[in-house]
Amino acid sequence: MKISILFDNRSTSHEFISMWGFSCFIHEHNLLFDTGSSYKILKHNMQKLSINEKNIKHLFLSHFHWDHIGGAIEICLEKSELEVFIISSFSKRFVESLKSARCKVKVMDEASNFHKCCISTGMMKGVVPEQGLVVLHDKGPILITGCAHPGIVNMAQKTISLSGRKLFGIIGGFHLLFLSLDEILNIVYLLDEMVEGFIAPCHCTGDEAINLFRRLKDKFLEIKCGTEIIV
Ligand SMILES: [Zn+2]
Ligand SMILES: [Zn+2]
Repeated sequence: MKISILFDNRSTSHEFISMWGFSCFIHEHNLLFDTGSSYKILKHNMQKLSINEKNIKHLFLSHFHWDHIGGAIEICLEKSELEVFIISSFSKRFVESLKSARCKVKVMDEASNFHKCCISTGMMKGVVPEQGLVVLHDKGPILITGCAHPGIVNMAQKTISLSGRKLFGIIGGFHLLFLSLDEILNIVYLLDEMVEGFIAPCHCTGDEAINLFRRLKDKFLEIKCGTEIIV
């Protein structure tokens, strides 16, 4: 399974444009997770990774924040009939724009196995409500988060209870920017217990927290815009 990081505030090289936001593409499922904050930049980075926009068949939007949905309407306009998975916290106006762009909107407030091996955690409560994407893999479930506003540990726990297995991997923004050193270290410890394969923090995790995850040695996976994760 291949997952390409298309949008992040850090990049692997100058070839890619980095900007605040997050998006990744799960090749096997033709699924785009979030769109970052700019369609133009998303498109540029996709081209650099040789990803054809035609291959996007499903769009999963984690939460209603500008840095995760910036390119959504434009993608729907270019690709009519696209399936878009959201939760009910998205504004009516935004949902109307998606529908006017002729995409099929599906609201997933409850946890569900919405497509092949892809599960939504359902809408989880937080400062901003959010859904996590769980991709089932032989080695174990892989959780992808936008900003993890409901708490990265809560989202990991929900994934374990939904799949009945320890996580194999976890990717995305963990939102640890405003936590104390002790709080971050506790989260590093808890995730280490819950995840068997790799932990790949990016976006709003914060540089300080990312550096603390490095203590997990081989379990830590450095990801930036341009990284391709092969599982
Ligand atoms: Zn964000
Ligand atoms: Zn956010």
